[in-house]
Amino acid sequence: MGLDKGFGSTQFSSEMKIYLDGKFVDDSEAKVSVFDHGLLYGDGVFEGIRLYGGNIFRLDEHLERLEYSAKAILLKLPHTRQEMSELTCETCRQNGLTDAYIRLVVTRGVGDLGLAPWLCPKPSMFIIASKISLYPKEHYDNGLSIVTVPTRRINPAALPPTVKSLNYLNNILGKIEARQFGALEAIMLNDQGYIAECTADNVFIVHKGEIVTPAASQGALKGITRSSIFDIGRELGVVVREADMTRYDVWCADECFLTGSGAEVIPVVKLDGREIGTGQPGPITQQVLASFRRRVLVEGTRI
Ligand code: PMP
Repeated sequence: MGLDKGFGSTQFSSEMKIYLDGKFVDDSEAKVSVFDHGLLYGDGVFEGIRLYGGNIFRLDEHLERLEYSAKAILLKLPHTRQEMSELTCETCRQNGLTDAYIRLVVTRGVGDLGLAPWLCPKPSMFIIASKISLYPKEHYDNGLSIVTVPTRRINPAALPPTVKSLNYLNNILGKIEARQFGALEAIMLNDQGYIAECTADNVFIVHKGEIVTPAASQGALKGITRSSIFDIGRELGVVVREADMTRYDVWCADECFLTGSGAEVIPVVKLDGREIGTGQPGPITQQVLASFRRRVLVEGTRI
């Protein structure tokens, strides 16, 4: 099943240029301090972004989400939106990439060993642009089998999942459990038992011709790919709406798919060993996937 390699692994090219705090440096030189609170406490924010055929997909939306994540944790970003946009494009150009996965990270920066973020005077920002290996093609053709994991998605009152922070341990525990059950991705419920999202993807079902996804208030990240599904629904003439969802809704759904910058749009055909719908990727999912693949080539910021 390819579990060892794992989805989302990047293929490092030998001469990778990393943007780090004002300079482009070789990957071997791209180092942050052991006193950086991003490392010590997961104190920071990030984005995972895609470059398709020389266009960065929805870069402005990613940067807006980064700004909101930073605002939520009272972290002052070191650059304006325009500067971050230019630096992101330049990182792709420096690496001669036209198709890539881009990781933009802003950490709280160097401080002492206490928690206090106000003792970290300067945030650190780095951008990595690299090739990505997607889920194997067979899963886009035949669909994924996923599971529900026991670890619950963190309560929005503790740390809102809408904040894309460096604190991903909750998702990592979910990912470990998914692997223990032999699955590549897993549904995480919130502490009331409603479906929140997957460990690194948003969840959608198709029921009676409508596309339905949990609201962010149930513990989901406001995915950029997720938001594009609402536009695709308008294009296809299919209603896309948010609703509270339990596993019952997936059991009785006609189709199911996941979305994420890394995963794109991927069909799901089984949950916890139960077939969803016909047990094959459904027709609406396939239309959504085809529309998404068309859009990524034309939408976006030219680097
Ligand atoms: N949920 C979580 C927890 C994520 O980390 C991600 C990003 N991989 C997503 C959903 C999907 O969001 P996006 O479409 O913006 O990549």
